[in-house]
Amino acid sequence: MNEDRILVTSPLLPDLDEFHELLKEIWESKWITNNGKFHLQLEKALCDYLGVEYLSLFTNGTLPLITALQAMHITGEVITTPYSFVATTHALWWNGIKPVFVDIDPSNCGLDPDKIEAAITPRTTAIMPVHCYGNPCDTERIQAIADKYGLKVIYDAAHAFGVEVNGESILNHGDMSTMSFHATKVFNTAEGGALIVKDAETKKRVDYLKNFGFAGETEVVAPGINSKMDEIRSALGLLNLKQVDEAIEKRYQVAIRYREALRDVIGIRFFDDLPGVRHNYSYFPIFVDAEHYGMTRDELYFKMKEQGVLGRRYFYPLISTFSTYRGLPSASPENLPIATRIANEVICLPMHHKLSDEDMSRILELIVGEA
Ligand SMILES: *Cc1c(COP(=O)(O)O)cnc(C)c1O
Repeated sequence: MNEDRILVTSPLLPDLDEFHELLKEIWESKWITNNGKFHLQLEKALCDYLGVEYLSLFTNGTLPLITALQAMHITGEVITTPYSFVATTHALWWNGIKPVFVDIDPSNCGLDPDKIEAAITPRTTAIMPVHCYGNPCDTERIQAIADKYGLKVIYDAAHAFGVEVNGESILNHGDMSTMSFHATKVFNTAEGGALIVKDAETKKRVDYLKNFGFAGETEVVAPGINSKMDEIRSALGLLNLKQVDEAIEKRYQVAIRYREALRDVIGIRFFDDLPGVRHNYSYFPIFVDAEHYGMTRDELYFKMKEQGVLGRRYFYPLISTFSTYRGLPSASPENLPIATRIANEVICLPMHHKLSDEDMSRILELIVGEA
């Protein structure tokens, strides 16, 4: 019945011959992990590209979250968003920290600064917001609250590769920011991630922590973990970094076409570019208002799926509804009305650098045709 399936994303992959050249170098050097040449090169190249000073590569995007909390000795309670990928909250749980969910702001799907203060208790030690879909959080207000109460701020910036506000990297806000270079992200190393910190001392500490706590051949200074990135994926990253701007430009063209086609569809909402922001077009979420659109989100989602168009309900269900977390007082839907509503409205449309005009026509026909 349906033609080829259209997936929500497609990984950025380098030219295979170019990759082979780098693999040959790795084979010849016989150095395949532990701070090798390509690892160092990629850290440097990412600092330059992202406009940050201290970045430490990781083997995925979850371990930098866990390590950031370890590095700053975060304990007690941490305020976070239920509207994210589940790893954000899991990182707290793995550190024995109690997550406290706060509702989101519908204008960017990030933590609502108006609701943070009411959730602070004497046990609160940090705030862990997410730049959801690469939309920058209200970093100024979040920092003001953190300063007032003496809290740390760790941004989960997994969606925010290359995002800038008024020419400044979004990653320079808060105490630390984490990134994911998973295959589904704008920039990928198959699996991978990074932790961005503010000073050389902290980077050194993070580098110890990601290598079992080793500070030398025989000295272990902390109960570290193993979350190093290897040479093979570092090489992949170096090549992908060269083509990421082109990929973002293609994604931008997709966003423009989606917006034009959906602008007048009643009951469908989406994000426009925010003033002063360099977006990365990592996702294209639409929000279905069933009453006005005439169809629920799930009806549209399954209709698309039947026709081979695989959107994703990011983020549904909310993290706060999973069995581990739903017993927490802050997890109740009454505490999270906006996130609860948005989780029931969202579909992320297919968005990647390989999406063709025909693909977009097929997708849009399913959404606009019925309205
Ligand atoms: C992808 C993602 C992660 C986890 O990254 P992995 O590289 O898959 O471990 C964490 N937080 C958010 C918001 C993500 O989208």
